Amino acid sequence: MIRIGLGKDLHRLVEGRPFILGGVTIPAEKGELGHSDGDVLCHAIIDALLGAAGLGDIGEFFPPSSPQWKDAYSLELLKQSAEQVYQKGWKIINIDCVITCESPKLLPFRQAIRDSLAGALQIPADRIFIKGKTNERIDAIGAGMAVEALAVCLLEHVQH
Ligand code: MG
Repeated sequence: MIRIGLGKDLHRLVEGRPFILGGVTIPAEKGELGHSDGDVLCHAIIDALLGAAGLGDIGEFFPPSSPQWKDAYSLELLKQSAEQVYQKGWKIINIDCVITCESPKLLPFRQAIRDSLAGALQIPADRIFIKGKTNERIDAIGAGMAVEALAVCLLEHVQH
């Protein structure tokens, strides 16, 4: 049995916050505003994984109302989410992602992000791909006010 999962997230970008994608801090003028560290990519992947496995969503697992998750390092939340998915007998075939932000260019950081995610998920980095896009200066993302991430994943159920 295989299952597909879809995740999406968006965070405002503000001065004075680090810009973190997939657990990697990227040099930038602004960073994600959020209750946690605001790592939009980890959040999208968490929703894709939990959705594919039918387990729930990030808001249920890590409620923003809970002080426990204030300034949480989202790569750790991703790791915990993946462990839940693995415990149910699922294996990740692949994850594919799109990150949209006006700046900075993400290509120089792609491999570091893939390696970071691969480490947290304990899968080879070639099962994870990431594309950086701009929004052609249109809308809030194009104005540099927000960053968005989309993620899809494919899971395979391992027979015991
Ligand atoms: Mg989020």
